[in-house]
Order: sequence, then structure tokens, then C-alpha cells
Amino acid sequence: MNFDWTVEDREIKTRLIGIFDQSCLLELEALEDADLLELKNITSRFLKRLARIGYLGIGAGPVAGSDTLGLMAGQEELARISGSLFLAVEVTARIFAGLLRCFGGSGHAGNILEAVERGDLIGAVAVTEPAEQEHDGGLGAVAWLDGSDYVVNGKKDFVTNGPIADCLAILVHVEEQIAICVVEPGLPGLVIGPRMKTLGYNGVAVSAIELNEVRVPRSQVLGPISDRSPLEFLRLTEDLVLTMASVGLIQRTIAEARKYSGLHQRSGKPIFAHQEIRFKLAEMLTLSQTSQLLAFRAGWMCSVSDSEAATMVRCAKVFAAEASEKVASMAMQIMAGQGYLSGNIMERGYRDAKYAAVAGTTSERARMAIADDLLKRYV
Ligand SMILES: Cc1cc2nc3c(=O)[nH]c(=O)nc-3n(C[C@H](O)[C@H](O)[C@H](O)COP(=O)(O)OP(=O)(O)OC[C@H]3O[C@@H](n4cnc5c(N)ncnc54)[C@H](O)[C@@H]3O)c2cc1C
Repeated sequence: MNFDWTVEDREIKTRLIGIFDQSCLLELEALEDADLLELKNITSRFLKRLARIGYLGIGAGPVAGSDTLGLMAGQEELARISGSLFLAVEVTARIFAGLLRCFGGSGHAGNILEAVERGDLIGAVAVTEPAEQEHDGGLGAVAWLDGSDYVVNGKKDFVTNGPIADCLAILVHVEEQIAICVVEPGLPGLVIGPRMKTLGYNGVAVSAIELNEVRVPRSQVLGPISDRSPLEFLRLTEDLVLTMASVGLIQRTIAEARKYSGLHQRSGKPIFAHQEIRFKLAEMLTLSQTSQLLAFRAGWMCSVSDSEAATMVRCAKVFAAEASEKVASMAMQIMAGQGYLSGNIMERGYRDAKYAAVAGTTSERARMAIADDLLKRYV
């Protein structure tokens, strides 16, 4: 294991930080309150900037042989700068494009992948079925072949980028198998629901979608695939992205708490001089370093196809998600009344912090899978 950044990794970090000058940071602030049109424009502009420095093409995600650590070097910076932009970008460049790369590759999917790398396209992936619709397969949508088209029916909950996506990958059942329909909004019968209001990450647009007898040409359907590999790929990729979202959020939060504790004075000295504040900062740094190392170890294990990689990704996600909640809470305590005011960075971080534990593989499901793996390996 060697977690030192290579020259290329350092370069991508430097180029990434270089994009975000003062005017870009203001633009990012606007993302948090933007309406859908503005949100789409801002996200598209940043995708183009990120494409120009090669960020959208680095690393295919947690795939064997891929430069997962190089990718994480960049992800850490972007997640630290803006959690919302990070999620919108990673859903496009790693989750949506990763799915197409792994299960499509050429033809229609190939053209879309090129558009993603140029920063010309916002992608979304629809997997989660609505609660009221639960059945054993867990996909909430079915498709059947009718001539040269698949016909798709169903509903999906929570689609990140849903209302602003140029292209959606929708997972459906074809009898017992899984297929991925790659469609553009505007297709007859495809209804993109209104934007959902969320607790945190307010600069990301999320919606439900509904499919009513949507006809998708066969050339735009990947599969059917007889095993659960698309779901396994998605869970791993998504969980690693959410881990890095937590790592970035923790770093942003600590930087703000550190700054505030030096500037704000009580009892005649900066609050940093009070032991109670110092202890909190020390604990926050410990949680930050541990989350970061666990994330890198999980990423490295993915890139060398270690048989425990999936377990380690879950461990990293659970740890980083819960660490980000603890760090956000301690930071709020340090900033006290100022931190509690709506609209400041601590208050936003406190709301964002809950997301990673409930999205992707929830902490409960992750712990169950970790325990299953532990019992299988060490009996
Ligand atoms: C803002 C946001 C964006 C999202 N974006 C996307 C997206 O782009 N695409 C997409 O497909 N999905 C997306 N999701 C969905 C997300 O991945 C799911 O919310 C997540 O997987 C949890 O599923 P659920 O909400 O249905 O919870 P449930 O699965 O219903 O879980 C409810 C509770 O029960 C527990 N639980 C569930 N099953 C078990 C079990 N077997 N044993 C023990 N405990 C269990 C869970 O841990 C949780 O505490 C998004 C969600 C949010 C909130």
C-alpha cells in the first residue's frame, strides 16, 4: 500500500483548485439557492471547466486496474470545495458514465460517454423503487420486448440530477434479468417529477420519475444481464462517491471551525485557547484523518481487486458518514449561536452531513453486509 500522490495526482489536484477562483466560488454559492434553470446552467458550466482539466475522464471508479486513488485525489478536492457540485458531477461522470462504460461501451452508449467526457451532458441513474411499490426484485420498473422496442412501465424514487439530466440510465427488470434503458427526457410516457425538497445538498436537483408504456429502441437498452452485476457496480461506485463526499465535507467543516476559533474571542482570548475547543478540534482532525485513510485503503483495494474490497468500501462509508455527522455537530458547538443561523456554512454542513448515512447503502444495511462478510471469512 502506498497512498502517496503521484506527480499526475498532484497535477490534477492543482488544476482542480485552480478552476475555483473567487468568481467561481460566488457562482457555487448561487448553486445552493438556484432555480432549476439556473442550477442546470451552473452545473453545465462547471462540467465544461472540469472536462477541460481532464477531471471527467480520470479513473473509471472502483474498477479493477483503474486508477481509483488518482480519482480520489481529485474527488477529495472537489468534495471539499462544493458538496452539491461534487454530487451532481460524480453522478454524471462516475455513476452514470461508469454504468455505460461497464455494460455498454460502444454504439449509442459510446457516443454518450464521449459527450460526458467533453462536459456536454448531465447524467442521472434511476434505481430506487418507491416504498409503496416494494417487491422482491426491488427495481420498481419492468420492460418487455415489442418488435424493435422495449416497452417500459414503472416508477422510481429519488433521482439525483433527474430534473436537469440530458440523459438517464434507468434500471428495469426484463423478466428475471436486469436491463439498463438509456433515454433522454421528453420521450413520450416518461414523466420527470417536480424537484424534491431535501434537508441538505440544496444545490442538487432530485426528483421521482414515472414510466408509462415508454418505448425505448433496442439499441438504447444495455442487457438484459442475467446476474446482479449492474447493481453491485452501482452500490460500490455510489458508496465510494458518498464516502468521498463525507471526507470532503469533514475537511471543509474543520477549516471553517479552525478559522472561527482563531478569530472569535471570549474571556479575553480567542476561543482556540480554551481547552474545551482545542479538544474538539483535535477529535475532529482524528476523525478526518481516519476517514480519509480508510477511504483510500478501500479505493486501493478496489483497484487491485482485493477480495475484501466491497467490505472495506462499506466500512469506509459507514465510518466517514458517521464521522461527518460528529464533526458537523462539534463544529456547530464551536461556532455556537453564529453556527446555528440559517445560511452559514456550518448550518449547511450540519444538514448535508446526514445524507451519506441514508443514501446508497444505508448504514444499517452496510453493517449487516460487513457482518455477513466477517462471519463468512473468519469462522
Ligand atoms: C437526496 C437523495 C438522492 C438520491 N439519489 C438517488 C439516485 O440518483 N438514484 C437512485 O436510484 N436512488 C437515489 N437515492 C435513493 C437512495 O439510494 C435510497 O434512499 C437509499 O438506498 C435508501 O433506500 P430507501 O430510502 O428506500 O430506504 P429503505 O430501504 O426503505 O430503508 C428504511 C430504513 O430501513 C432500514 N433497512 C432497509 N432494509 C433493511 C434490512 N433488510 N435490514 C435492516 N434494515 C433495513 C434502512 O437502513 C433504513 O434505516 C437518493 C436518495 C436521496 C435522499
